[in-house]
Amino acid sequence: MVRLPEQWPPVYDRTYVPGPEERYWNPTVETMTQEQLQDLVLQKLKRQIRYVYDHSEFYRKKWAAVGFEPGDLKDFEDFERLPFTTKQELREDQMEHPPYGSNLCISHEEIFHIHGTSGTTGKPTVFALSRGDWERMAEAHARVMWAFGLRPSDKVFIGSVFSLYVGSWGALAGVERLGAAAFPFGAGQPGQTEKAVRWMWEVKPSAFYGTPSYALYLAEKAKELGIDPREFGIRILFFSGEPGAGVPATRRRIESTYGGICVDTGSMAEMTPWMANGECQHRQGMHVWQDIVYTEVVHPETKQRVPYGREGVPVYTHLERQAQPMVRLWSGDLTLWTNELCPCGRPYPRFPKGIYGRVDDMVVVRGVNVYPSAVEDVVRSIPGLGDEFRLVVSREGIMDELAVQVEMNTTAHEDPAIAADSLRQKLKSVLGLSVHVEVLPGGTLERTEFKARRVVDKRRMQGAAPEGSSGA
Ligand SMILES: [Zn+2]
Repeated sequence: MVRLPEQWPPVYDRTYVPGPEERYWNPTVETMTQEQLQDLVLQKLKRQIRYVYDHSEFYRKKWAAVGFEPGDLKDFEDFERLPFTTKQELREDQMEHPPYGSNLCISHEEIFHIHGTSGTTGKPTVFALSRGDWERMAEAHARVMWAFGLRPSDKVFIGSVFSLYVGSWGALAGVERLGAAAFPFGAGQPGQTEKAVRWMWEVKPSAFYGTPSYALYLAEKAKELGIDPREFGIRILFFSGEPGAGVPATRRRIESTYGGICVDTGSMAEMTPWMANGECQHRQGMHVWQDIVYTEVVHPETKQRVPYGREGVPVYTHLERQAQPMVRLWSGDLTLWTNELCPCGRPYPRFPKGIYGRVDDMVVVRGVNVYPSAVEDVVRSIPGLGDEFRLVVSREGIMDELAVQVEMNTTAHEDPAIAADSLRQKLKSVLGLSVHVEVLPGGTLERTEFKARRVVDKRRMQGAAPEGSSGA
């Protein structure tokens, strides 16, 4: 039996930093067996659930409907009786009880930060954090960053928007807690990318944080300005907000462009500390750091937890959250999980293929499920093609048509017709579909400094792209 301190939520020593040669930030937890970890998670879960029951009107109501009281929680099966929480539900609750909804468990005076989801579609949701939540986020992020190799000697360029988007702030808080130098450059202002190139050239950061599509866009800009991105000297690039860092061809492309390693992190903004999904230096897929956020992977239709080795939807529960704890938040993402031990020795399960889609991001074309990430993997494996691409789905008569628009790389020497042919053949073999391919000159498709929009579904009236992947 693992002993927990009496105090909940836990308070961490803010001055503690391991020696630079140490492998683990928190060796007690990170070297547990999988059984010990399960035991620890269950104990933390009981405390979080008790707290939520005592403080959250939102959850008390939800749980009353299934006749649940915290004393009923003896094992994970009991926990699985609890209903899921959806983003839509949070949105509606916040409209009814503005601005935070009925799940605010602290007083307004205790709110330390207010953030919101990136809200690519629908009304954004608001969430508050207490000072303690913020400190625990910093602690958790520092722990995960340590695992993927950041050390206090690093200089970390943060190339994402500083706004209500908690991704940037979460990276910043983690960097500060770890004791590395934070270089919070931001993104999203006109002309900022050119400036970023010049600043990076001057300052020579050793690490980069942002979205994968932005890292590629920045590299393109650097090359236009005559700078090889390898000359920045970045050794670690870590990402969230998009699945790209878990897509093998995108990862290879980022690594060969920058000469540093590519690390995938991120769950959802609401689940901050969102780095509770995060790879270690071995990059065998994101670990789910179960003692920070308890993650289940459930079947999208039966809603039952799936065994390791199977595919499903991650469902998240906070274990150390005070202000607006989430219990069984339905992510709508798709992943596959495994508990095969990683070479790092940590007991956490992993998502070896990352988060590769969303239940609602997938487009069905002539009965075939098509994930933008599968197309991305093919596009980025073909020499001469650029990094941007779009899927355009339309209907001609009764037939669905899928077109993939790509660009030639501005510096490519390959023949566009040969690249198009090779793309068409590979897509056909990977997707099992005939795809119309359009190869465009470099720079034609709209660029993003934030999350890439990949799907245009003309079969829908609005023709808008579906909601992007996880908020953070
Ligand atoms: Zn590992």
